[in-house]
Amino acid sequence: MKKITLKAGREKSLLRRHPWIFSGAIAHVDGAPADGDTVQVCNAAGGFLAWAGYSAQSQISARAWSWIESDKIDAEFFRARISRALAARKALHIAQSSNSMRLVHSESDGLPGLIVDQYGEVLVMQIGSAGAERWRDTCADILQELSNPLCIYERSDADSRALEGLAERNGVLRGNLPESLVIEEHGLRFAVDVAHGQKTGFYLDQRDNRALTGSLAQGKDMLNCFCYSGGFSLYALRGGAKSVLSIDASEEALQLARHNVELNGIDASRAEWQCADVFAALRKLRDQNRKFDLIILDPPKFAPTAAFAEKAARGYKDINLLGFKLLRPGGMLATYSCSGGISDDLFQKIIAGAALDANVTAHIVHKLHAAPDHPVLLSFPEGAYLKGLLLRIGD
Ligand code: SAH
Repeated sequence: MKKITLKAGREKSLLRRHPWIFSGAIAHVDGAPADGDTVQVCNAAGGFLAWAGYSAQSQISARAWSWIESDKIDAEFFRARISRALAARKALHIAQSSNSMRLVHSESDGLPGLIVDQYGEVLVMQIGSAGAERWRDTCADILQELSNPLCIYERSDADSRALEGLAERNGVLRGNLPESLVIEEHGLRFAVDVAHGQKTGFYLDQRDNRALTGSLAQGKDMLNCFCYSGGFSLYALRGGAKSVLSIDASEEALQLARHNVELNGIDASRAEWQCADVFAALRKLRDQNRKFDLIILDPPKFAPTAAFAEKAARGYKDINLLGFKLLRPGGMLATYSCSGGISDDLFQKIIAGAALDANVTAHIVHKLHAAPDHPVLLSFPEGAYLKGLLLRIGD
């Protein structure tokens, strides 16, 4: 029997149904499990706690698949979990606003290490744990059977795979990838490059926040920082923004963004695109005394884990302080963090500090989070990685 026995008292988080078993909590490992093997997790007295996928090289030595002793971790188990995840999205009627959504959200769907994003008729799988890696082909077969997509593409190239001792993988798993892929979201069309684009190709998690931005943009001068393929910018342009300046450090992202403007037949004259480092660009705009009515700050992950929180906090404070200074009186700032290592509370404190130093009074108009196809399991708060605040500053 492949078995992990925890140190006395270290079973508490598992009993609360948090799925991660850290290496420091383990007293001994029996049966020489290989990476990806299913192991039984027991308390110090030998009592059953969970079934988990083993990962010898990771700080997170195992991730729980199930807390039920009679469960068998086999293809039927994965079929049930994936079916449940698909049914949950159906029940939310997300398809009414988009043909693209996250179908499987890792731990939050009881499938630690497995992400599946749907882009129209293409599914993109991303595997981030040794446990999920073991079941990769099984999951691909199940997805093919349940969703019948044209293609299942694998984008297992996130940096975090190295922590699990897994090599990068990027390629077709099933079917053929169409030459071009255009998705539809709230009536807007976006070209998505699932093979080379960021993440799995698009930031699906910001769908509803993009729509909110569109609803606020009428007549405004907007600044969209870290714009990627132009998501927030396109919503604002369609929503009647007077001007939209979008900044990203990636030329490929900006090319995609310009293409997306064309795809939607939007008048490009109101849009300005800048390939630059946002930290420097914001300073330049400040020195030029440029002002905006609406600013979006949606940076990449500054803190992948809590260990990076302090350095990340300085980055967030810097861009938000500058953002506040670039706003006209009564202007709005939509500011985000997708760092798992920064809690909601900490993020709000950082932004409050930035407002203080910028000498503005700001009110929270909306607290923002990922769209509902990225649910958060209550026992796994780490699932709430995306947090945002829509703020209005004083007149
Ligand atoms: N808001 C986007 C997603 C942003 S992702 C959407 O809705 O689709 C973060 C983006 O920040 C990426 O496109 C990346 O290229 C860009 N980026 C990362 N570091 C940057 C920097 N220092 N300056 C400018 N852009 C940066």
